[in-house]
Amino acid sequence: MSRIAYVNGRYLPRALAAVSVEDRGFQFADGVYEVCEVKDGRLVDERRHMARLDRSLKELRMARPMAEAALSIVLRETVHRNRVRDGIVYVQITRGAARRDFPFPAGAKPTLVVTARNSDTSQLERLAAEGVGVVTVPDIRWGRVDIKSVALLPNVLAKQSARDRGAREAWLVDEAGLITEGASSNAWIVTREGTLVTHPLGEDILPGITRSVVIDVIKAQGLAFEERAFSVEEAYGAREAFITSASQIVLPVVAIDGRPVGNGAPGLIATGLRRDYHRHAEVS
Ligand code: PLP
Repeated sequence: MSRIAYVNGRYLPRALAAVSVEDRGFQFADGVYEVCEVKDGRLVDERRHMARLDRSLKELRMARPMAEAALSIVLRETVHRNRVRDGIVYVQITRGAARRDFPFPAGAKPTLVVTARNSDTSQLERLAAEGVGVVTVPDIRWGRVDIKSVALLPNVLAKQSARDRGAREAWLVDEAGLITEGASSNAWIVTREGTLVTHPLGEDILPGITRSVVIDVIKAQGLAFEERAFSVEEAYGAREAFITSASQIVLPVVAIDGRPVGNGAPGLIATGLRRDYHRHAEVS
């Protein structure tokens, strides 16, 4: 089946789907995006993803290409036309196409692209059962990574260095030696005392939607929880570690820089959060 992409008002076979060479997303990474999980053909936490998209647009003074209700229909239609059952839907909005010049162009229409695809669910289940490795790399990103912009070159380089070192994810380390988040996920540990810890919200991490739902699950399970930064050293000594993102939900981390976390197997807390996640997420 050929994959279908929505581009500026049209559903097109992927081979024909294109944006202008002058698109500011291509020229300047002047765009934002969202990734929403699709489960059983339905959108997971659409409301929260759309609220974050709205915030990203506002922070960058970028116009909406269409109202939220209309965008919701496009998301569903793209999921449907691609026959996605368990996977993701991806939305990208850029400031549009205009003669290449740095300031905001007058009168450019925002570009909207939506794609959707199935995930390799058996691979994800295997990763959840076996756990994944992460490596630490310096966080060299800009100062507003709370905005979900498509300017992801440092994330690309971090992820590649993880792959080069045989790991799934890179954990980004700030100048104080504290872990901010993963290249495409939020980072968590469970201390020896059993407290869950993740970096507080601010301009130095993306406010993950999965992170916020996991906090709801933690509260429902009555677990101890602290929002504070943790160091690489503390992570090495953690009882458990895990990562969260819309495309992976919760994945246990069993090695950091090649050192086993806890007993080197997925932890009970991470596994329990993964198990209960969709009871707390909104499905629509
Ligand atoms: N942090 C970064 C840098 C990300 O790119 C992502 C997801 O792509 C996340 C965190 C997790 O966010 P969410 O749970 O909303 O997918």
